[in-house]
Amino acid sequence: MKTSFFIHVGEVQAVRGVSFTVNKGEAIGIVGESGSGKSVTSMSVMKLLQYPGKIKSGEVLFKGEDIVEKTDKEMMAIRGNEIAMIFQDPMTSLNPVYTIGDQIIEAIRRHQGLGKKEAKEKAIEMLKLVGIPSPETRVDNYPHEFSGGMRQRAMIAIALSCEPDLLIADEPTTALDVTIQAQILELMKDLKDKINTSIILITHDLGVVADVCSRIIVMYGGLIMEEGTAEEIFYDPKHPYTMGLLKSIPRLDLEQKQRLIPVEGTPPDLIKPPVGCPFTSRCPYAMKICTEHRPPYFEPSKGHRSMCWLLHDKAPKVKVDTGVKRGTA
Ligand code: SF4
Repeated sequence: MKTSFFIHVGEVQAVRGVSFTVNKGEAIGIVGESGSGKSVTSMSVMKLLQYPGKIKSGEVLFKGEDIVEKTDKEMMAIRGNEIAMIFQDPMTSLNPVYTIGDQIIEAIRRHQGLGKKEAKEKAIEMLKLVGIPSPETRVDNYPHEFSGGMRQRAMIAIALSCEPDLLIADEPTTALDVTIQAQILELMKDLKDKINTSIILITHDLGVVADVCSRIIVMYGGLIMEEGTAEEIFYDPKHPYTMGLLKSIPRLDLEQKQRLIPVEGTPPDLIKPPVGCPFTSRCPYAMKICTEHRPPYFEPSKGHRSMCWLLHDKAPKVKVDTGVKRGTA
């Protein structure tokens, strides 16, 4: 899939050819810095792009049907039912004229077929689950009576009440404190295990996906740089960008004296993206070929792919510091 934004200074090629599959009941993580194309990918999947954004080519197959071809009316029926999305900004999906409780009750009644009384009890339970204090009274509040963090949690409660086939969560826990964040991620895991919901979790934080996702996609410059199982990405990364991200997060599973190193530099200009590898200007291993030709995907093992010339048979053998040294900590 390719998605661009057509603005007055040119075409921003936000997603430049991305392809991946999410199986039933599987949770995948899409990780990358801001501007990597991860959120535009999720908006494209939901067909929620607004002008001047446009899906230029490709298809999004959901249960065998192409979402790109669906009308707005058909998409409205799919969104919130079969596919639910949790956004970074809760105000975009909460309706200001209905109470929080009404919005959860509606989702519960529609999806779980409960009566009004049971649905309200379930709504209170859901609010409690996502950490809303005094849920029995808060259930009758309007969105404007909730703080930003509480609105975020209420929105998560609504999305989870829909029991969707696919849940797309874009930075769902960024604004929340660590304890609530852990509880929300736990809820998402439960949903996956109990009703076999597939999950796409989008985040800039590799630490967030570690617990929930079995497969991880690392995006940069509108492309997938690396895809592999969580084990492969965390313990056998094959792309210098993934290695850079790993060195920038604290890890309890590695040696204690690990120093955190940010990935220096800035992402590429996607109006004039580099012809070669988009990571060239920030990569400590960049070679001449990297600036001239975009690498193809190399598969170090089945299902593990990396877009990097270092994996080519003829690449000079350099010592690569993956930053992964399992310790005794
Ligand atoms: Fe670095 Fe070259 Fe690999 Fe890109 S292709 S990540 S520049 S070594």
